[in-house]
Amino acid sequence: MARYTGPRCRLCRREGNKLFLKGDRCFSDKCSFERRSYPPGQHGQGRVKVSDYGIRLREKQRVRRMYGIQEDQFRSYFDLADRQKGVTGTNLLVLLEKRLDNVVYRLGFAESRSQARQLVKHGHFRVNGRKVDIPSFQVKVGDVVEVAEKSREIPVIIQALEAVARRGVPEWLELDADNKKGSVKSLPERAHITMPIQEQFIVEFYSK
Ligand code: SF4
Repeated sequence: MARYTGPRCRLCRREGNKLFLKGDRCFSDKCSFERRSYPPGQHGQGRVKVSDYGIRLREKQRVRRMYGIQEDQFRSYFDLADRQKGVTGTNLLVLLEKRLDNVVYRLGFAESRSQARQLVKHGHFRVNGRKVDIPSFQVKVGDVVEVAEKSREIPVIIQALEAVARRGVPEWLELDADNKKGSVKSLPERAHITMPIQEQFIVEFYSK
C-alpha cells in the first residue's frame, strides 16, 4: 500500500492532537493545529457524536499516523505484541519505539519520524558499525546508532541536533552529540512514552 503523501497537518487536525510530524514547525505559531484545532472538511466544525467504535478507531489511527506506519504493518506489530508476554498495549508501543527510524528521531538526528525514515533509507546511519537502511529495524539494548562518516556534515542532521534540546532525549537512549552517535541503554518502558496514548483502545479495536 502506498505511503500517505498528503498534507501532514491535516492528519493532526483529523486526530484532534498534535502528532509532531513536521519538526520545527510543530513548535512554532505556524502549527496548523494551534490555529485550527477542529477536524478538516466542510463538517469539521459541526458537532459529531463519536461512537465507542469510532473512539477506538481514532486512537489506533492516531498512533499509527504518529509513527508513520501503514495499516498492514501496524496490524503485524499488534499481532506480535499480542503473542509476547506482558501487556499487549505496552508491548505494541515498545515495538514501535524500538524501530530504527524512531530511534534516529528520538536521538535528535532528524526533526520528524518521516525525515528520519528517509535518512535511514538513504543509508546515512550505522548500527554497531554496519550500514542499516531499513527503517523498521528493531534496535536492542547495547546497540550503537551513529551517523555514517560520509553523512556527518549533512545540514538537516546538524540542524536537527541543534533543535533536539527542545524535546529532549528519552531516558532509555543516550546521545553523544559531538560524535553524532547514540546508544540504547535499556528497553523503552511505558513511562518513557509521554505522548497521551490510550493503547487499551487499540487493543480493544483489534480484539473486537
Ligand atoms: Fe501537526 Fe506539526 Fe502540522 Fe502542527 S505543524 S499540525 S503538530 S504536523
